[in-house]
Amino acid sequence: MMTSTSGRNWENRLFTGEWLPGRGDSVPAREAATGATLAMLATADTADVAASVEIARQAQAEWAGWSFDRRAEVLRRVASLIRERAAEFNHWNIRECGSIPAKAEWEIQAVYEQAQMAAAMPMQPVGEVYPSAMPGRMNYCQRLPIGVVGVIAPWNFPILLSMRSVLPALAVGNAVVLKPDLQSAVCGGLLLAEVFEAAGLPRGVFHVLPGGPQTGADLVAHPDVKMISFTGSTQVGRSIGEVCGRMLKKVALELGGNNPLVVLDDADLEVASSCGAWGAFLHQGQICMQAGRHLVQRGAAERYIGLLAERASRLAVGNPATEPVHLGPLINLRQAERVEDIVQRSVALGARIVAGGRRRGPFFEATVLADVTPEMPAFSEEIFGPVAPVTVFDTDEEAVALVNRSPYGLAAAVHGSAMGRASALASKLRAGMVHINDQTVNNEFHIPFGGMGASGNGGRFGGPANFEEFTQTQWVSVSHKGIQYPF
Ligand code: NAD
Repeated sequence: MMTSTSGRNWENRLFTGEWLPGRGDSVPAREAATGATLAMLATADTADVAASVEIARQAQAEWAGWSFDRRAEVLRRVASLIRERAAEFNHWNIRECGSIPAKAEWEIQAVYEQAQMAAAMPMQPVGEVYPSAMPGRMNYCQRLPIGVVGVIAPWNFPILLSMRSVLPALAVGNAVVLKPDLQSAVCGGLLLAEVFEAAGLPRGVFHVLPGGPQTGADLVAHPDVKMISFTGSTQVGRSIGEVCGRMLKKVALELGGNNPLVVLDDADLEVASSCGAWGAFLHQGQICMQAGRHLVQRGAAERYIGLLAERASRLAVGNPATEPVHLGPLINLRQAERVEDIVQRSVALGARIVAGGRRRGPFFEATVLADVTPEMPAFSEEIFGPVAPVTVFDTDEEAVALVNRSPYGLAAAVHGSAMGRASALASKLRAGMVHINDQTVNNEFHIPFGGMGASGNGGRFGGPANFEEFTQTQWVSVSHKGIQYPF
């Protein structure tokens, strides 16, 4: 088994096919729980981005020209290496991101599965044949790579959310420049570069450029980056979308959420409260699909709140590297203070803390807020922290209106024992993913994943969507004898 410090080729280095110092500032990688410096990171400036994109542009054509079975083989080796080095990824995921070990283990297993699925992509059909109105003509459409794809990823599931773009993009013949978040640049970028290098990906096809917003903006603005795949906040996604729109550049935006969990009065409340707790508190609530609004029908409300508060108060909070805990730290102190501020502003407007509510440095207790109304920040803002705000409704129509009041539309859940009623309600919700009698944090990698409204621009990840996203279609018509026109 590799140790956490094996090699450290990446320390103070960028990956451009070789390990180079960055021209940007050197910055510390910090442990989320303690603030301790774990390593020093190089960052990429505008010139580094331009150099990488040029190398990637040149390397892409060769990679796309590799036979499909050779491309598949590299990706199979990536899958094996991910599994071999899982302990090392988990070590960094726990320290950089404050993940509890179970979350880190789930994430690396998910990346392994994604790598296996990507390895199966190169042998899939690459087009379709269409009939023609012209006699003697054949029409076919083929899927071609886009070229250089820029991937910009967040820190919360840094390995999965970068690799769900990187892997399919590479599988269909693109080159990729990845800009991880600086708070997760080791597990979400630099270790991945080592994996691709060891797997035999041709030099220059994959790059890792740690950096902040400016590095991301440089990647977005580079004319030879032909597509941006961005996962992160709606605010940043909107500004990236504006630049890509102006440049007529393909862009996939997977953004924030404020996901409702609707509990009808005929629901099994043990199940609903278990789903509510998991959906709200997993990874300290720092998940785009977090159950951020618990909408409960009046007859079920008191019992649901009691059961949820009981579950919340059983959850231990602390440093996941040193203690067995359910909740680790938030990613940084600023985020924890932001969550505290949302709770306090909501309490000032009449919300009631039923469990938790306290912050200790970057740690925040699993919190249940009752009496939450749509005017309160706990209802209207994406919390991204371990807080479950509960709002009461009377009728199904009212529940639908409350759900669709949010501009976001990522995931939703509906709990109820009458399937007809629950599924009729589900189909009225503006959400890219709806789960009946389950919770909002769900991902099966062969199923298209993505949001509506302010949660994205309609792009999807997973299964057939990966071909749609990372290729472009070319229509080729072949007239065997040639066609004579009137002039
Ligand atoms: P963020 O938008 O602040 O940062 C995401 C990435 O964008 C980082 O790598 C960051 O350095 C980069 N970036 C920041 N400003 C940029 C700019 N102007 N140009 C280019 N790149 C820039 O998001 P975050 O705080 O890291 O992540 C949390 C957010 O991500 C939440 O809103 C969450 O809901 C969302 N998210 C969405 C999904 C999804 O699949 N829909 C998944 C995870 C997280």
